[in-house]
Amino acid sequence: MMVADPVTPIGLLIGTDRLTRTSLAPHPHIYPATGAPNATVALAGADEVGMAVSAAREAQREWITLGVGQRRDKLIDLADVVREHLGELAELNTLDYGVPISYAGNAVMLDQFLRHFAGYVDKPHGSSTPVSGSSDVNLIEREPFGAVGVIAPWNGSLVVAASCVAPALAAGNAVVFKPSELAPLAALRFGELCLEAGLPPGLVNILPAAAEGGDALVRHAGIAKIHFTGGGHTARAILRAAADNLTPVVTELGGKSANIIFDDADLDIAAVRSAHQGPLMQSGQSCACASRILVHEAVYEAFTERFIDVVESARIGDPLDPATVFGPVISAAALDRIVGVVGEAVDSGSGDLLAGGRRLTEDSLAAGYYLEPTVLGNVDNTSPLAQTETFGPVVSLIPFADDDGAVRIANDTPYGLNAFVHTRDLTRAHTVARRLQSGSVWINQGSRISPQGPYGGYKQSGSGRTGGLEGLREFQQVKNIRIGIG
Ligand code: NAD
Repeated sequence: MMVADPVTPIGLLIGTDRLTRTSLAPHPHIYPATGAPNATVALAGADEVGMAVSAAREAQREWITLGVGQRRDKLIDLADVVREHLGELAELNTLDYGVPISYAGNAVMLDQFLRHFAGYVDKPHGSSTPVSGSSDVNLIEREPFGAVGVIAPWNGSLVVAASCVAPALAAGNAVVFKPSELAPLAALRFGELCLEAGLPPGLVNILPAAAEGGDALVRHAGIAKIHFTGGGHTARAILRAAADNLTPVVTELGGKSANIIFDDADLDIAAVRSAHQGPLMQSGQSCACASRILVHEAVYEAFTERFIDVVESARIGDPLDPATVFGPVISAAALDRIVGVVGEAVDSGSGDLLAGGRRLTEDSLAAGYYLEPTVLGNVDNTSPLAQTETFGPVVSLIPFADDDGAVRIANDTPYGLNAFVHTRDLTRAHTVARRLQSGSVWINQGSRISPQGPYGGYKQSGSGRTGGLEGLREFQQVKNIRIGIG
């Protein structure tokens, strides 16, 4: 399936212009479900970044002079337009990276976050406090940064549009949004919808780019802040590049989340949730994926049996079929890498292969990048399999003996993004949650990323928060104004 004419590249969006020719060669976008070309996408380099930053800075000056009521209404108008196009955005999201369309929730998030952050625009953003020994008026105000750069991973262009672009605009900024070249389609449509909703041209610019364009964005002196979502390796390169201009950088990074199954949990429900939060969730290609399942030794066998039943009965197939639960991984290279990680774990005795581990070669799936959902048992938590993000449909089962052991294993990785706890005992759930080094703890449920809930990591899972007031604050800077009286 081609989403566009294969010869003419899909253009970048800068202001109202679509740039189909840039300083760099266009990127052939591949649909992971078929391994076939899907579209050709223009890529931004330094020149296009410069144009987009100029457009954003000009639009931001217009945006900030609008009254707060007008800015609030414009964001609600945008949410309305997004809501009218939810089906189209969900389909483009699927074509972007092969995620089953049953994950249409990514498009719904955009609608929800825009409405949530629109609500902040006309609410108090500052305060006034007395100062000792003076009758001065002491104001603490919150201002936008100006033009900010938002960089998204291939598995999250709509999620990042929701969790970062929406608060950036609500705080009064303009955005240069850089989706991955591997998944630019839904983001580009979102940029068009911003114009259709009547946002000032240039307020949201969409620049699909690879590392070169991303680096140019980070280094541009006109960018006042970078919000980066992606992997730790890239975050290190970005932090180094941002050092030249001392540009502040927020990072939202990967995870190796623990999902703790206590011996009093409802095992049938825990097995279903763990499968959908683990290997089945976007084929394990989600930062929120619970890739380590810690199971109390008393229920280890009973849970494992139920869990594998659920995993092996997942419907695998065409991502555009609403009944499909499990789709391909992003690329042939990713598939080879993931198969290698599993082979290495088995060969080194780090775990026992209980399910999956092979590329799917049935006729309808052979050309796509499909891998069996994969489960390893009795995994050594110190092994590379348990310590590094696999970013594929692979989970480790790790037995534990008591609550202290569960907490120790859960915290024993460099990451700290999410954790999950399954128990009927709420005292135990809460006590354990407080001991977990993790930005989110979800108890008796799967991941629940909401506009109201701050989301982000501890340790090497990142420094920032999206969602709620904390998410808005990432896009505001603080000014103190003192007025002498008398
Ligand atoms: P990645 O780090 O390879 O790329 C992320 C983005 O950075 C892409 O747009 C890429 O083009 C860009 N980039 C690459 N090099 C750059 C450079 N030198 N300068 C500027 N930009 C550059 O990550 P990915 O493979 O696209 O996504 C997967 C990763 O993202 C996983 O680690 C996953 O856990 C993480 N992720 C985190 C969250 C979160 O909210 N914490 C959400 C989704 C994904």
